[in-house]
Amino acid sequence: MKDKLSKGKIVKIKEVKVGGNKPIIIAGPCSIESREHIVDEALSLKEIGVDILRGGAFKPRTSPFDFQGLGFEAVKYLKEASEKSNLPIVTEVLSEEHVEKMKDYVDAFQIGSRNMYNYALLKKVGKTMKPIILKRGFSATIREWEMAAKYIEAEGNENIIFCERGIRTFETELRNTLDLAGAYLLKEKTGYPVIVDPSHGTGKRELIFPMVKAVLALGLDAVMIEVHPNPDEAMSDAAQTIDYKTYEKIAKYVGEFNENRI
Ligand code: PEP
Ligand code: MN
Repeated sequence: MKDKLSKGKIVKIKEVKVGGNKPIIIAGPCSIESREHIVDEALSLKEIGVDILRGGAFKPRTSPFDFQGLGFEAVKYLKEASEKSNLPIVTEVLSEEHVEKMKDYVDAFQIGSRNMYNYALLKKVGKTMKPIILKRGFSATIREWEMAAKYIEAEGNENIIFCERGIRTFETELRNTLDLAGAYLLKEKTGYPVIVDPSHGTGKRELIFPMVKAVLALGLDAVMIEVHPNPDEAMSDAAQTIDYKTYEKIAKYVGEFNENRI
């Protein structure tokens, strides 16, 4: 089975390869809270070890009364953080009207779970030819997720990275049910890189490290994790956000995992 997965496609985000045989780490805060916040966090994560920086600028919150992100201001801060840390960046794009403006700032677009079925947005980001991290809709079947990617592919853009972020089931103990078997199956089926977001997938910070170990054991291509210097104070998704100390343990584990495989 391992052999099959190792034949997968590789998608490059700047110089960073997603896919192949070396799992990477994408990390950053759920929401970019200020210029200082994202610049400091970029430099801290860079120092600890990270491949791609992710931060939320436009936030798709369940309640319209919750913090919606700093919007385009935050995209500029993220770009500055990228220049200072030399890290590639990714952020979520929520609407078609933002695609053109954002494409000169970011190295990859994230399509969030709530927008997986937004076919007009998928076509629009597809046309940019940029790498697209396509999150699974929280009630999407594997086939629907795969077909959503076809909208990007149909624009001639094969820079597709699938992201499993948990689905809604009858279970209530966890925020979502992380479908690792589905993620593995999709990778085997399509050959595209498949990454996993254990933060939204579990909703619990103490489950992030164990899920990272599982993702590496499966031969999947990256973990995407929410990190904050002071997680309890994070403006969104505090309960699933880890601190730098925990992040350091995870980064060390991924580093050793990769060294031992060479
Ligand atoms: C996020 O990545 O911050 C996010 C909102 O995730 P999802 O679209 O998976 O809910
Ligand atoms: Mn989040």
